[in-house]
Amino acid sequence: MIETDILIIGAGPTGLFTVFEAGLLKLRCHIIDSLPNPGGQLVELYPKKPIFDIPGFPTIQAAELIQNLQEQIKQFEPGFTLNEVAQTIDKQEDGTFIVTTDKGTQHKAKAIAIAAGLGSFEPRKPLIENIEKYEGKGVEYFIKNPELYRNKKLVIAGGGDSALDWSIFLSDIAEEVTLVHRRNEFRGALDSVEKVQDLKNKGKIKLITPAEVIGIHGDGKLESLIIEKENKKIEIFTDYFIPLFGLTPKLGPIAEWGLEIEKNAIKVNNALDYQTNIEGIYAIGDINIYPGKLKLILCGFHEATLMCQSIYNRINPNKKYVLKYTTVGGIQGFDGTVK
Ligand code: FAD
Repeated sequence: MIETDILIIGAGPTGLFTVFEAGLLKLRCHIIDSLPNPGGQLVELYPKKPIFDIPGFPTIQAAELIQNLQEQIKQFEPGFTLNEVAQTIDKQEDGTFIVTTDKGTQHKAKAIAIAAGLGSFEPRKPLIENIEKYEGKGVEYFIKNPELYRNKKLVIAGGGDSALDWSIFLSDIAEEVTLVHRRNEFRGALDSVEKVQDLKNKGKIKLITPAEVIGIHGDGKLESLIIEKENKKIEIFTDYFIPLFGLTPKLGPIAEWGLEIEKNAIKVNNALDYQTNIEGIYAIGDINIYPGKLKLILCGFHEATLMCQSIYNRINPNKKYVLKYTTVGGIQGFDGTVK
């Protein structure tokens, strides 16, 4: 059982910044995310896009903002449970909560901050008969550990940055990389498209376009794929099939937690502290809804800050908190727990 003060569900910008604001108040945090890496929408949907509305940064790339947030919270040593979906929340008689993930990891916390954005990201799956039978048996939608593919045969499908970048990276590790895309043109960065062409010319990547994987064969595990190219069917023997068609967010288990939901978002008390209808459970960032809500990164940061003050008062009912600025004696000397 992992124990903490604030259990944060979602490692997007809002969840990450919560660790900083909580740390100033000497509250410990642990974050759960269904993805293998922190960053939420910024890393999954637009890592290379410049953002222009973060105060103090005339422009910053989405992935760089996430790196900076991770650097900023390192000093507070948050715990992470990545690659696991927060599945259930059980409120205990003493007012604490037990959160259990889809892999059975249990977390005990004094307060819950749901910073789940648009919900948990799930891979877009190709429409191939029986594909689910081979999931985890050769079919993978995320690349968690590239070493798994050392000296193996892989077929990657997709035409965006993920498919291109992973094909390039894995061409150095795998025995054989085949990239299948249903068009001749790729949607990814020009530089990556050129690199893939170059690796194709060097015989390090096999490129099959315009083509689609339409069938899977194997006895208990993936053995071969049927690929259709210009009305001809080809069978390719492979160890892994990795369709990288992007991710779609789904509210998922959050809808089952007894929270008031409106338009696929969690209703909160925005006049006070972003608490939900269940005392001790807060919702901040894109996941919440209230009159005038804006789904922007800086709104999530503001909500996280007010929420942390409320959680501090909930956990320490007899202590009076006096706001000090972080520059008073530096962060290490900052002590919110005044008398
Ligand atoms: P997210 O970033 O969505 O992170 C939520 C995390 O929670 C995800 O990682 C998800 O996997 C995880 N999660 C959800 N449910 C569970 C669960 N049950 N268990 C475990 N993990 C879970 N905003 C701006 O301010 N400026 C911009 O320029 C801007 N540009 C944008 C461009 C695009 C293309 C898009 C799509 C959005 C843009 N936004 C912009 C909006 C901004 O990305 C969001 O406001 C921001 O990502 C919200 O952050 P968040 O932390 O609340 O949620």
